[in-house]
Amino acid sequence: MGKRKFKAESKKLLDMVINSIYSQREVFLRELISNASDAIDKIYYKALTDDALTFNKESYYIKIDANKDNRTLKITDTGIGMTKEDLENNLGVIAKSGSHTFKSENEIKDGHDIIGQFGVGFYAAFMVADKVTVISKSIDSDEAFKWESKGSDGYSITSAEKDEVGTEIILEIKQNEEDENYDEFLDQYRLKQIIKKYSDFIRYPIKMDITESKLKEGSEDEYEDIIEEQTLNTMVPIWKKNKSELTDEDYENFYNEKHYGFDKPLKHIHINVDGTVRYNAILYIPENAPHNYYTREFEKGLELYSNGVLIMEKSADLLPDYFSFVKGMVDSEDLSLNISREMLQHDRQLKLIAKNINKKIKTQLLSILRDEREKYEKFYKSFGQQLKFGVYSDYGQNKDLLQDLLMFYSSKEKKLVTLEEYVSRMPEDQKYIYYASGESNERIEKLPQTEMVADKGYEILYFTDEIDEFAIKMLMNFKEKEFKSVSSGDLGIEDDEQDSTEEETNENKDLFEAMKEILSDKVKDVRASKRLKSHPVVLTADGEISLEMEKIINAMPD
Ligand code: ADP
Ligand code: MG
Repeated sequence: MGKRKFKAESKKLLDMVINSIYSQREVFLRELISNASDAIDKIYYKALTDDALTFNKESYYIKIDANKDNRTLKITDTGIGMTKEDLENNLGVIAKSGSHTFKSENEIKDGHDIIGQFGVGFYAAFMVADKVTVISKSIDSDEAFKWESKGSDGYSITSAEKDEVGTEIILEIKQNEEDENYDEFLDQYRLKQIIKKYSDFIRYPIKMDITESKLKEGSEDEYEDIIEEQTLNTMVPIWKKNKSELTDEDYENFYNEKHYGFDKPLKHIHINVDGTVRYNAILYIPENAPHNYYTREFEKGLELYSNGVLIMEKSADLLPDYFSFVKGMVDSEDLSLNISREMLQHDRQLKLIAKNINKKIKTQLLSILRDEREKYEKFYKSFGQQLKFGVYSDYGQNKDLLQDLLMFYSSKEKKLVTLEEYVSRMPEDQKYIYYASGESNERIEKLPQTEMVADKGYEILYFTDEIDEFAIKMLMNFKEKEFKSVSSGDLGIEDDEQDSTEEETNENKDLFEAMKEILSDKVKDVRASKRLKSHPVVLTADGEISLEMEKIINAMPD
């Protein structure tokens, strides 16, 4: 059979696949492995309805062989194979997906969803190969066929020899060019890494012969190369396992394997949702903030899998900024992927998942706060500031969600307390939630402004973080109690000796007038005060803004 040309549209599409659909070349392997896995799934489905077929899991696998000398990379599968027509229809027409057709013709049960759908993944091979050869034998045919192509100038199909049903794809890896290196796709360690990254949870074993240098038997310094066939993928993803089968250690290992962080996670959240939107997720609350956490460099996001295949390393849409510290992954079968699998249409499913995750994180944090106080305080040291930023940003939209998670240092308890705890301890005559701002707890303790409130026996929250007061301004109140700075003019404290201070002010009228004149542009008024016990003077703020806040605002660049 002579050479066939790709259809004109296909030619253009092929150029597009090679040059612009994928941002990383390495994903060609993910695409070929996904196809191989789909082909095995198809046999599995056939066996479900065809009594003549039995599906024996052991005989199904995917094998990768790299040959540096010939510069070939071979991907073999024991899947359903392709007839001559299949080769023609599925590989000769770009954007035609045999898998898509298969899915619509067969009833697909949960958990075995076929990956392919757009009919372009296969051509990703041309990003790294000059020539691609496919040798395939279909379960429905006694003959095998060979499909060969060097890319856009077309393909040919000829008869071939192959004993077993299945498919072999041979890539002739491109020669290195000046600034393009393709050798990595022949290197077993690099290939192993790519497979681990994208295809670790493919349900069938992905095997490769790995050469390892080992000590010769009986020798102490002589090494020999030993070739050993290894299965590279984990196959059953941890998130699909039953929670009751898993230990904290399993989750910690996964955290380390995935390089979510160098620390031990403080807590994990394992979610299996089987509702309107189906997804599994494993999320972690880290103990420590990464070194760049509070900088622009930090990128939030969760890994996103579609049916066990990695689609995106950092899906930012899944996490709100105030929970940007959360690490982990989400796997769903229900996502509408676009052609490159890299970007998702901003779809409803993803939004639903994000919303759901958001709730789960909050619930988890509240339960740590309730049951594991010390752990929560550790967490709060690392990420409390981010929660406060969350209250402050978006015009306080998220305050209801976040206010229960906030903590401040208490003058009474000498430790971090929640607003709920503060309010529950308030004496009946106390109108406000009092706070004092300053550089450190020690400094705040010495502020004359705190004296009167403390003397009344009221608790004061110490604000030592610049964001504190801004966040509280957004909250405005908690459980209908307003926040009040101890430096504000009106403290709302019952004042039965009101007259006597007025009297004192009048008695010292001349002195106060003279002081006011000297401090003319610095103060608005000078008067006698009952706030003071051991300090001679105190500054109070006139408006809604405390003195500390004024300092910060004044220091802000215009
Ligand atoms: P998709 O996987 O989105 O359908 P691809 O371009 O990756 O698109 O593959 C096109 C079609 O070629 C598949 O739908 C399938 O019918 C067929 N195919 C590709 N690789 C194999 C394989 N290893 N075994 C059997 N069929 C395959
Ligand atoms: Mg595919």
